[in-house]
Amino acid sequence: MSHVLIQRLWSNGWLQGLLLIVAWLLLWCVGMLAEYAYHASVWFPPSGLTFAALLVVGFRSIPFLFVAAVISTFFTVALYDIDSSALDTLYAGAKFAIAHIVAYGIGASVLKYIADHEEHRLPIIIIGFLIIAAAISLLATALVLIALVTSELMPSSEAPDIWLAFWVGDMVALIVLAPLFASILLNSYPKPEFHITPLWFLEKQRSIRSFLYKLAINIAFITIVMLMTARIDTLESAFLAFFLVIPQMWLTFSESTFRTVASLAILSFLVVFWIYTLGLQEYAFIYQFAIAIIATTAYFGVAIPLLVMDNENLRQRVMSDSLTRAASRDFLIQQVELEIQRCLRGHRVMSLLVIDIDRFKDINDNFGHAAGDQALMQLSEVVKQVLRGTDVLARFGGDEFVALLPDTTQSQAYRIAERIQVKVKEIRINGEHSITASIGIAEFKPDDVFSSFFSRADQALYWAKDAGRDRIRAYE
Ligand code: GH3
Ligand code: MG
Repeated sequence: MSHVLIQRLWSNGWLQGLLLIVAWLLLWCVGMLAEYAYHASVWFPPSGLTFAALLVVGFRSIPFLFVAAVISTFFTVALYDIDSSALDTLYAGAKFAIAHIVAYGIGASVLKYIADHEEHRLPIIIIGFLIIAAAISLLATALVLIALVTSELMPSSEAPDIWLAFWVGDMVALIVLAPLFASILLNSYPKPEFHITPLWFLEKQRSIRSFLYKLAINIAFITIVMLMTARIDTLESAFLAFFLVIPQMWLTFSESTFRTVASLAILSFLVVFWIYTLGLQEYAFIYQFAIAIIATTAYFGVAIPLLVMDNENLRQRVMSDSLTRAASRDFLIQQVELEIQRCLRGHRVMSLLVIDIDRFKDINDNFGHAAGDQALMQLSEVVKQVLRGTDVLARFGGDEFVALLPDTTQSQAYRIAERIQVKVKEIRINGEHSITASIGIAEFKPDDVFSSFFSRADQALYWAKDAGRDRIRAYE
């Protein structure tokens, strides 16, 4: 019976909501641990959870976030021993909750908008997220301070002194924790409102041990640095925390995005824990900035492999022919020029083949353009089967292909051309009609540039066509 009830509560979202409230309040308590001045915490971790919940779960999370914020106001009243009736506290809590939820709700909506309009491109989402985090935590600070002052939970004279620390605390927690909370919610919430699926195929699959090993190094580093500061008590030693960026970036570049995000969150909790237990409140601002800068750097680190991949895709598109997957004309010219340098330096040889399908126009006319395309794809395929890995096959235009054969003399090239002709004759259009190709060959001469080299091979092709097609001619 109770089992059925739990299942129903879970499927209706009530239990998840309850979990959200408990998690939010626990984070609030952790935030209080890191308080280094009245109302000023090193960070305010609930802001990360609120943002993540509004992003992934959406409007359905609002009632639960609201309840958590109201309960936390009762905690605040008790913690600071403020003289406030239950009704006044409830009213103040509602004001705080609205300020908090409105600010982070706007931030989450803007990020969702950016993600939808940028086709979920991670680098743009990351930059968008960082800008939103800075702007929206400032808005949250303004709205929450107004709520606290007007509810008389904070004297108005304190707001000017506290707003900066308040803002940075919210911002740091948002930057460091929201990505982790969002990842967790994304994996456990059935219908997330926000997802970045194109990312998963990029994930590096490494053993958990390699991650734990790197995480342990990060933990040991920050622990040693903070213990040192506790002992020698100098500003310089506190700044050493910034060097955490080195082991963290190692982890970022070699592990998955989720592990990067988890490591940042774990390290930030650890920093807060050490500030509290070692009494390093005096340096809290330095640690706050160190965490924020390291997290920001790590997120850009996550985006870099994607930028590299985008560039690689673009390069592929420029460097190859999309129909036949042969190289492009530009790529061929570039490779021939490189090879010319090598030949001149090393007294080596190379040859060029120009391959052209015979009466290709008739294939298009008789069997249709699609069959013609098929023939071009098959030609590219069979020629590649004959060539070596170091050779380059390019589509030069229309039905004309050019093969660059490094370390190959004219007579060796001739034998390769013969093998290509045999393979080409095996191609069948619509399963019946066979095709032939004519091939011109030229060997490199030391005073050649690309155009002179190519035009000899092209001239040889012309002779092959002129002699009746389905022939090979070398430039003599
Ligand atoms: P030849 O034996 O003298 O080479 O005769 P040909 O018909 O092969 O020569 P020509 O250069 O006159 O014809 C090439 C044809 O290739 C003309 C053009 O319509 C066709 N063509 C060019 N690019 C493509 C393509 O991407 N797909 C298809 N299906 N046809 C193409
Ligand atoms: Mg042709």
